[in-house]
Amino acid sequence: MKKKLKWISVALTALLGFFVVLFILNSEQTSEETAPIVVIQDTIVPINQLFDINVDSFEVIQSTIKKNEFLANILLPYNIDYAIIGALAKKSKSIFDVRRIAVGQDYTLLISKDSLQKAAYFIYEIDAVDYVVYDLRDSIEIVRKKRPIESKIQTASGIINSSLYQTLQESNANPFLAVKLADIFAWSIDFYRIQKGDWFKVIYEEKFVDGNSIGVGKIEVVEFKHFDRSYLAFGYDVDGRTEYYDEKANSLRKAFLKSPLKFSRLSSRFTMRRFHPVQKRWKAHLGTDYAAPRGTPILATSDGVVIKSAYGRGNGNYVKLRHNSVYETQYLHMSKRNAKVGTQVRQGDVIGYVGSTGLATGPHVCYRFWKNGRQVDHLKEDFPSAEPISPSIKADFLIKKDSLQADLALVVVDKMDEGDN
Ligand SMILES: [Zn+2]
Repeated sequence: MKKKLKWISVALTALLGFFVVLFILNSEQTSEETAPIVVIQDTIVPINQLFDINVDSFEVIQSTIKKNEFLANILLPYNIDYAIIGALAKKSKSIFDVRRIAVGQDYTLLISKDSLQKAAYFIYEIDAVDYVVYDLRDSIEIVRKKRPIESKIQTASGIINSSLYQTLQESNANPFLAVKLADIFAWSIDFYRIQKGDWFKVIYEEKFVDGNSIGVGKIEVVEFKHFDRSYLAFGYDVDGRTEYYDEKANSLRKAFLKSPLKFSRLSSRFTMRRFHPVQKRWKAHLGTDYAAPRGTPILATSDGVVIKSAYGRGNGNYVKLRHNSVYETQYLHMSKRNAKVGTQVRQGDVIGYVGSTGLATGPHVCYRFWKNGRQVDHLKEDFPSAEPISPSIKADFLIKKDSLQADLALVVVDKMDEGDN
């Protein structure tokens, strides 16, 4: 189980803050409810085949790496001496560096049944899929292998009562789906504001090793009903990666305009240290400046909601937009603002005009960019493409879409008729 938690925690680093919290809060529960992994601690079990090795003639010891446990602690008691352990570590380097043996990972020892009690094999499990087999008989043989991964197509559905995560958990679906769905709908649904009574149904791929789930694969199709509007996403593989499109083959992703001005000159880049032209001192510049004549229209770089439209001493006239639960942008030093707090804007809408209000030497817009609450250099961000589906594959997409939609129609949302839907 620790393995699964570790895997989840690695994936978490890339996630939205609020899911992070939910996962940490819930992962312990998950580990008990959805973990049919039998952990055999230091016990001897009779099994015929393990890691493709016939174990009839061995005693099998399965355990997990404990704190301060190294190869020597494990192998010395089974009559593998230091010289052999050293040779093993050296030989293993190009296959698996034994210094990376980690606390909590599973291992297996196959011990000769005779009076010698010598270890014949040591098998270390790197993760849920990869493992290394050390054959300690005669000369040391080392092979890295993978357990077979099985994919199953699963369905899930539910009505939102609290969070999406919790609803998925209650409907016995893999809660990791929440993250995937939030990602797919990042540009259309604000998952901070999902409503009680919203519902979803989804057909997705789940991956298993030895019957244990190791994660969610591709989302085949999902429908999300939010504020009386239905959002559909169809997974479609383009150039080896899965993109999501709506029923009209429009990409669900939206890119940012590269700059908030149509024609401009980049006059100062995002940097942690620059000499401020007005304040005459070194400080971080957490934005990108684009110089342009006073009055040049400033464009919203993507769809969003106006969350600030104000005057500040340093910022001058400025507007801040919230695009989704991940991205926010801000535009400073405007001569005039053209945005009201609370209004929706479309990519390319004019939200103000270039000026030099606040701390500015000449007319320019200082463009600031937030990702998950942190200011980043938008010129260094790798944004998802928002390319429309190419005409050559559109027909194929539409055929697959029809078949997925028919499959999805068979998925029933529980208690859909109850409540105020
Ligand atoms: Zn600036």
